[in-house]
Amino acid sequence: MKLTFLGTGTSFGVPQLGCGCAVCHSRDPRDRRTRVGAVVETDSGETILIDTPPELRLQLVQADINRVDAVLFTHDHADHTHGIDDLRAITSRSNAHLPMFGSAQTLGSIEQKFNYIFDDRIKPLPGTSKPQGRSVVLAPNETVRIGGVDVTAVPVPHGPVTTVFAYRIGPLAYVTDAKSVPDEAIAQMRGARVLVLNALFRHPHPSHLSVPEALDVAVKIGASRTYLTHLTHDNFHADLEAELPEGVSPAFDGLSITV
Ligand SMILES: [Zn+2]
Ligand SMILES: [Zn+2]
Ligand SMILES: [Zn+2]
Repeated sequence: MKLTFLGTGTSFGVPQLGCGCAVCHSRDPRDRRTRVGAVVETDSGETILIDTPPELRLQLVQADINRVDAVLFTHDHADHTHGIDDLRAITSRSNAHLPMFGSAQTLGSIEQKFNYIFDDRIKPLPGTSKPQGRSVVLAPNETVRIGGVDVTAVPVPHGPVTTVFAYRIGPLAYVTDAKSVPDEAIAQMRGARVLVLNALFRHPHPSHLSVPEALDVAVKIGASRTYLTHLTHDNFHADLEAELPEGVSPAFDGLSITV
């Protein structure tokens, strides 16, 4: 399967509006980070989108992704969901309801904010269209088969109040917006060949792994390759790349890898 990082930036994005720091003025294209999302293209030709960040249309155009067969939502924070309307271009061509997976809490919140996408009683005017979504609630640690691949929803804490779904997708483990990765989640991720982990600053953050904390988790899971995402203007990409241990790299927008 193929994994493409659509966006690798924290909720502000990089550069951060109005920030005068050196990273925000970097000329390295890898230091320009849109909000976090990714896409998995399975060997059977299906496309699984992870989250719908605010820059979704631009990200999909850039990655040349023209079809989406399923969406996996990690949680309903604005940086992960507010591009959902851009799926209109996908569903108006397929003329089908796009299955959208997530926890009951996440999908309930998305349905409330974007009810026109899920409520078939709300009809677009003739000659116009709207995105069409179908919620599919996953229980914690439930596995479903999508595009010929087993997908498991793995709960991880995102600070003291929010729980996020990380996803094990066959040989890939994708963990965004986790403050920690409990032992049960580590057990679900073990054996993954590629691991994606959120990492914000070098110092601790109340709701995300820091870079040193992410490295500890990476050792416990033991994937052959680990990529850090949800990155901030704390680091130049090149500096972080140079100092991370072997097998761990910062991701960047547009990076594609074969898993
Ligand atoms: Zn900055
Ligand atoms: Zn979040
Ligand atoms: Zn986030």
